Amino acid sequence: MLDKLKTDYIDYGFIHCLDELDDWEEYKKNGALDYMLKLKDEGVIRHIGLSSHTPATAQVILNEAPVDMLMFSINPAYDYQQGKWAFGSVDERTALYQRCAADGIGISVMKPFAGGQVLDAATSPFGEALTPYQCFKFALDKPGVVTVLPGIATKAQVDQLLGYFDASEEEKDYSIIGSFKPSDAVGKCVYCNHCRPCPMGIDIGMVNKFYDLAKSGDAMAAEHYRQLEKNASDCVKCGHCNGRCPFGVDQMSRMEEISSYFN
Ligand code: SF4
Ligand code: SF4
Repeated sequence: MLDKLKTDYIDYGFIHCLDELDDWEEYKKNGALDYMLKLKDEGVIRHIGLSSHTPATAQVILNEAPVDMLMFSINPAYDYQQGKWAFGSVDERTALYQRCAADGIGISVMKPFAGGQVLDAATSPFGEALTPYQCFKFALDKPGVVTVLPGIATKAQVDQLLGYFDASEEEKDYSIIGSFKPSDAVGKCVYCNHCRPCPMGIDIGMVNKFYDLAKSGDAMAAEHYRQLEKNASDCVKCGHCNGRCPFGVDQMSRMEEISSYFN
């Protein structure tokens, strides 16, 4: 097979689409994992990837196998427990993203539009259709995410999706999803920056992301926080962000909490 591709290695060998722990046990028992590890030792496979839709299963596999990259379905519907592959609570999903960021496991996002569910007003849980750009931004704001891979059928779709790079902040703003959120998402910052501008020039989303990652044990995130030009200590409690946040975050209190954590 590799001969036909005119190569003697492949960049990624994948543990494909594992959602059930029983399937993972079988994967280990039938020798598939050992075979993959052997190929990696021999340099035939350079890296090991995992694809899954289930946070709990993915966490177990990350504990037991040297995974370098995770393909995971991230979109506003699944993250808010709506849709076919919406597995895990908000906290479980967030913990997985944070763990990947801390462990240097890049997340490649699949199903960024929830299989089209959120692009159609009739099936979107947010009362209106979202745009692909809003979905891209939502996924890219998540810790650990390095790339987003939508399914594409035509060149016209490629051209349209590449427009993301020229899209305005308004076009990418997904704060509409704050109109529908499960109770365990209320008051949790999603790093969207809808609450900006901050008169003190604080990148509110980034400050919150580094704080959450640092608390979950990511030493590099703490380092990144300290390198920010403006941080939570610069907050003057003007209240602008609190009035703007559609996710019910008391950002003024968060800034105080973040400032004392890092000081
Ligand atoms: S405080 Fe609210 S609006 Fe601001 S970044 Fe967090 S979730 Fe978004
Ligand atoms: S309360 Fe603090 S973080 Fe929020 S907008 Fe005002 S200065 Fe910025």
